[in-house]
Amino acid sequence: MASMNIVNVGKAYGSLTVIHGVSVEIPDGEFVVLVGPSGCGKSTLLRMVAGLEPITFGDIRIDGKVVNDLPPKDRDIAMVFQSYALYPHKTVAENMGFALKMRGETRADIDERVRKAAEILDLMPYLARYPRQLSGGQRQRVAMGRAIVRDPKVFLFDEPLSNLDAKLRVQMRAEIKELQRRLATTMIYVTHDQVEAMTMADRIVVLRDGRVEQIGTPRTLYDTPANTFVAGFIGSPS
Ligand code: ADP
Ligand code: MG
Repeated sequence: MASMNIVNVGKAYGSLTVIHGVSVEIPDGEFVVLVGPSGCGKSTLLRMVAGLEPITFGDIRIDGKVVNDLPPKDRDIAMVFQSYALYPHKTVAENMGFALKMRGETRADIDERVRKAAEILDLMPYLARYPRQLSGGQRQRVAMGRAIVRDPKVFLFDEPLSNLDAKLRVQMRAEIKELQRRLATTMIYVTHDQVEAMTMADRIVVLRDGRVEQIGTPRTLYDTPANTFVAGFIGSPS
């Protein structure tokens, strides 16, 4: 658990600026949804928070500490992507424990953490299976398991459900929310799906062309959208 502070963060690719000074303050344990149309900069912002992409200006702070120059592995952050990118020739247990093994943790510690994560995610019966023997939802859970075993302070999700069918998406939304309740971890969740944003978020950040249009609770955005873009995007009548 950690607070996360994004302070006037910007990103330019050469002469093209794609993030124009975004600021978001996220208290401990909050579930923030970053929403906006395709190409507005959601993934870029998330990748900068994770340390996968250098920031051009501004600061990323975790628990008050500037982490701009820390590599991803030293940020206590775990990221879950839409393409699960599981290792096809490793079992579920091996997939979940791989990062810990690379860190040189002991077999016993790895087994214990994998078991705990598998219990939280209802994956105990599947630990010896291979990814191809799993359903889409189970694969997505394994991807989350890989994040959980690392016991990160912050979870980042980049459109984790966009490859799933509608019914499973609804179920996984509830599971991710339940996970957040159990772990009480700070989470930043990226989606272009308004329904996902409205049903999952403690607070929503609406991005457009690399700028924040509005930050607020789903209720606030619905009742008092800052402008017609937010109103149109969130789907309120005004
Ligand atoms: P989103 O995730 O909201 O769809 P992205 O963060 O992927 O948006 O992209 C934001 C903008 O930055 C887009 O205009 C995209 O074309 C551009 N962009 C992303 N990555 C690169 C890159 N490596 N080089 C140049 N432009 C990029
Ligand atoms: Mg994206």
